[in-house]
Amino acid sequence: MTDAAVDPALAARLPKLRELYSALQDRGLSLDLTRGKPSAEQLDLSESLLALPGEGVHTAGGTDVRNYGGLDGLPQLREIFAELLGVPTAQLLAQDNASLRLMWDTLVQALLFGVPGGEGPWSQQGPITFVCPVPGYDRHFAICEELGIRMVTVPMTPDGPDVEAVAALVADDPSVKGLWVVPTYANPDGSVVSEDVARRLVSMPTAAPDFRIFWDNAYAVHHLTQHETTSANAIELAAEAGNPDRVVMFASTSKITFAGAGVSFLASSPGNIAWFKQHLSFRSIGPDKVNQLRHALFFGDAAGVRAHMAKHREILAPKFAAVTRILGERLGDAGVATWTDPQGGYFVSVDVVPGTAARVVELAKAAGIALTPAGATFPYGQDPADRNIRLAPSMPPLAEVETAMDGVATCILLAAAEVAAA
Ligand code: PLP
Repeated sequence: MTDAAVDPALAARLPKLRELYSALQDRGLSLDLTRGKPSAEQLDLSESLLALPGEGVHTAGGTDVRNYGGLDGLPQLREIFAELLGVPTAQLLAQDNASLRLMWDTLVQALLFGVPGGEGPWSQQGPITFVCPVPGYDRHFAICEELGIRMVTVPMTPDGPDVEAVAALVADDPSVKGLWVVPTYANPDGSVVSEDVARRLVSMPTAAPDFRIFWDNAYAVHHLTQHETTSANAIELAAEAGNPDRVVMFASTSKITFAGAGVSFLASSPGNIAWFKQHLSFRSIGPDKVNQLRHALFFGDAAGVRAHMAKHREILAPKFAAVTRILGERLGDAGVATWTDPQGGYFVSVDVVPGTAARVVELAKAAGIALTPAGATFPYGQDPADRNIRLAPSMPPLAEVETAMDGVATCILLAAAEVAAA
């Protein structure tokens, strides 16, 4: 994406844009592009899960799933996701719903106990710093904020985090313990980490001996086209680079089956898995294996997951196409915004004229269109350029996405024209 700039000629369009905006307000809309959730139509794709595992089906490989135990999760389901995530089954744990919990647990365990290869609890080593690529996922930043972890930002590129910037930050400062990465169809810019960037990230020298990359592969199989991109295999590359413990991968079925009742996954080196399980064993006697068996029976195998994701794609792709089409039609030649054209994931990232993102969100709100607050894609909710807006088109029906996007385009133009006229 290049920076959007204001064309002074836009000032002349201000009266017309004000009229257009006033007409938009008169429509009394009530639309919402804030929710990065599956729609009810998508959730319905997994409805038959609710009838599984069915009466009398209680065992999987001799394990009675109704009982305690099986801390690693059901092997049957782990095998399916090990194939999809490109990791050995032995290095993949299947847990309860919400991978965010596993991210939280990993960080809390690191703070309380330290990690393999480290020098004790992170909480006893002075201030801890995480590198946060921006724009990024607000909940990653919120976890750091809640746990008192300092955040420094690096820009995102179409190939993932700006690796030169990351390498410079981690090289000399031992307080830099971690990096957030969403490797496949990143939230919000849709980028995919290239093999080159992944190699650099797993092999770069770090001042902290216990530096960790939180590799949040939330959208590993969430393609919007028939081309099924695979992001680089960071766990394998890290082992090859002699830093086997550097990468911890997270994933879940939240946006495959049920966002509130899925299965989460954690994959890493054998050393990190043993470390994670050792502490996990105090927190739980075992995960919800009934839900895991239900998922394993529902999918059958990795091909079953892919086929299921194709059904999500049929619902989601037209909504994403509408977002980029309408932005193109309404803003294409105005030079007031740039936006991503994601090939997967759940978001479109829009950069508007610097200094106008908050104004666009405000204008949209006053016209009945809810947008994610400006700044949400940055640590502490502060976008220094007040430029980035995250759009989430998955929830509303297609017709509502179209109406909302037309309105958003008007707001972007009006905010830019206000600046041009000022
Ligand atoms: N990671 C990313 C990058 C996300 O965008 C989201 C949800 O929006 C999550 C994690 C949440 O995952 P889970 O539902 O497994 O906690």
